[in-house]
Amino acid sequence: MPDLSDDLRERLTRRHAAGLLRQLRELEDVGPVVVHAGQRLLNFSSNDYLGLAGSPALREALAQAGAVGAPASRLITGHLRAHAEIERALAAYVEKPAALLFTAGYAANVGAIPALVGPGDLILSDALNHASLIDGCRLSRAEVRTYVHGDVESLRAGLDDRERFERVLIVTDAVFSMDGDPAPLVALSALARAHDAWLYVDEAHSLGVRGGQGAGLCQELGVQPDVLVGTLGKAFGVAGAFVAGPVPLRDWLLNTARSFVFSTAYPAALLPALTRSLELVVGADAARAQLRANADHLRAGLRALGLPVLGDHAIVPVLVGENERALSLGAALRERGVLGLPIRPPTVPPGTARIRLTPMATHTVEQVDQVVRAVAESL
Ligand SMILES: *Cc1c(COP(=O)(O)O)cnc(C)c1O
Repeated sequence: MPDLSDDLRERLTRRHAAGLLRQLRELEDVGPVVVHAGQRLLNFSSNDYLGLAGSPALREALAQAGAVGAPASRLITGHLRAHAEIERALAAYVEKPAALLFTAGYAANVGAIPALVGPGDLILSDALNHASLIDGCRLSRAEVRTYVHGDVESLRAGLDDRERFERVLIVTDAVFSMDGDPAPLVALSALARAHDAWLYVDEAHSLGVRGGQGAGLCQELGVQPDVLVGTLGKAFGVAGAFVAGPVPLRDWLLNTARSFVFSTAYPAALLPALTRSLELVVGADAARAQLRANADHLRAGLRALGLPVLGDHAIVPVLVGENERALSLGAALRERGVLGLPIRPPTVPPGTARIRLTPMATHTVEQVDQVVRAVAESL
């Protein structure tokens, strides 16, 4: 067997040669403008859509925490009244009877999906679903059929032999994280009803952004998914996630979702910030309108350059194709003071590398114009 370091160095070299090496960059702060290695950069690569993560209001809320950790799992001594209260508030927010808090969206999906279905059951999964949904599907050991992205006919074909399976779960992002387009939720919901399937919707990029009071794309479209996942580290600017649905869903998950049962409780220190964040998000209609305006302005500016721009809201991906081209475009943007990061496989399918730009409500129109100019000069 090779020496560990030699082996890994060799594998890293191969990744580098394929334009797939990833590296961390140390930023000084969060927000619409960040500093990296002494350079001020317009930050068009975060999920902090409403600019809450670094806001004075959330920083102040941190000081109200009665404890830092909740040093046991929720089922042992880690369950505080504040956990129960925020779960009730989040459930009411998305118009579901109950919700269960997880430490991250990743943990929510790898915990909840295997808790709901298993061998003998069927999962229908959109081809562009987030990695945490894919991993949850794999862990479940149900039969997984991937349908063509957003294609209702492809999904319907996967339901042809529905009677062979006891339970069927349709799993989808609400807004796709790397393409920025919405799932056809109305059609998915109708198919689920018609074929006796459950609909599982992950609102990671739509909670706080879409719908009345930011309650999500399902709310906006009047769709009632059986299971709704919301994450709290993106537009909410804090951390964590919740799974919402009927009361027995919460009871079942707290018994069987392994990422909940066998993991230390959501940190007590963040609970007051989460409560404050929910209040701020509910009241953020003006910020949501500004976000929409910034996104529309950015997309229009980039399309005027003749670029293939995907999505239709706050995620503005510019399709580039080859990994190396995405890397060089990202570097050129950086030289012009813009942080617009390349997204490469396995996050997106091979040959579809892109620069994924995400405006924030707290960017100014001038800053959006600056990004368009930087892209034009970098081509
Ligand atoms: C970001 C994301 C997650 C993961 O959530 P974290 O809280 O960051 O772990 C899950 N699902 C989707 C669709 C996401 O975009």
